Amino acid sequence: MSFKDLQLRKPLLRAVAETGYDSPTRVQEKTIPYVLEKRDVIVSAQTGTGKTAAFALPILQLLLDKQDAPKKGKTIKALIVSPTRELALQIQDNFKTYSTYTNLRTTVIYGGVSIDPQKDVLNKGIDILIATPGRLLDLHKQDVVNLDYVEILVLDEADLMLDMGFLDDVKKIERLCTREKQILLFSATIPYKVEQLANSILHDPKRIEV
Ligand code: AMP
Repeated sequence: MSFKDLQLRKPLLRAVAETGYDSPTRVQEKTIPYVLEKRDVIVSAQTGTGKTAAFALPILQLLLDKQDAPKKGKTIKALIVSPTRELALQIQDNFKTYSTYTNLRTTVIYGGVSIDPQKDVLNKGIDILIATPGRLLDLHKQDVVNLDYVEILVLDEADLMLDMGFLDDVKKIERLCTREKQILLFSATIPYKVEQLANSILHDPKRIEV
């Protein structure tokens, strides 16, 4: 299978080709079609399998499709929640690379650093936000982040997120994304507590294992 077979648009195919990817990995082959169908998914995949592109590419495509509709200004349409700053930065790198030939704007926010520069970027308007839970809730409380327009929510490394004690934060974030949305849950393993979380917030998810 090729990336073209996955029906990705030209600007994304070009970025993927320039990155040096020849063909999709297994998790990408299995996940991308369902995300493009706007299904909720639970994907059990380890880091290193190419799972970031498995959500980043179809998210970019869905947002590009939306852009054909009349413009409504920059609002956060996709939110990726990640347990750690390192992982959040890696996700941001991936989005930056794949979105090179689009005009979609991405930013990353995390704790432990000064909040003001993050506010400045957010105030300019962005399409895709990658965030760690604590800083996200902080910035939401300060009215800098509006989650009312989120159409796609990704919970990455869900098992790690729960191990780190973020269950309540994750549930809160899900509720703050007030609109009906597509949810993509990625986890290395699916222990009972991840299953429970999935049951409480996902709708008829497609299960994918690699
Ligand atoms: P991840 O599992 O998302 O952390 O990705 C692991 C590594 O695989 C990253 O360095 C990606 O750049 C790389 N990668 C992702 N998709 C592909 C692909 N289709 N072909 C080759 N490398 C890839």
